Amino acid sequence: MEQRELIEIACKARENAYAPYSQFKVGAALLSAGGKIFTGANVENASYGLSTCAERIAVFKAVSEGELKFDIIAVVGSGVGYTYPCGACLQVLAEFSPELRVIVADEKSNYKEYGLDELLPLGFRMLDVRRET
Ligand SMILES: [Zn+2]
Repeated sequence: MEQRELIEIACKARENAYAPYSQFKVGAALLSAGGKIFTGANVENASYGLSTCAERIAVFKAVSEGELKFDIIAVVGSGVGYTYPCGACLQVLAEFSPELRVIVADEKSNYKEYGLDELLPLGFRMLDVRRET
């Protein structure tokens, strides 16, 4: 799948964001190793801490449907510049696919691509804990 195609799907997913508090809409499109695409949009709540990012929604949709391995995710925010996944989303993505490619795109269709390990070089891993004991 072409990067720009995945970005376009993320832009479309962003339209369903529920962001009445921040007005900051985010869309994500996650391509599974099996070739399926799962989308997500951020969903806010009046109790702010209950809000969930677009990326995690995409991952949870996929995992709850039996997809556990992913190749690439595209993330599109609002306004000027790139929107990078937050630390919580990077950690959740690393749980399933530490070798994931991460695309961040801006409003002008410019994009940058990273390895997940570049954005989360030293994320928590349960294996590390087991090795210590
Ligand atoms: Zn996040």
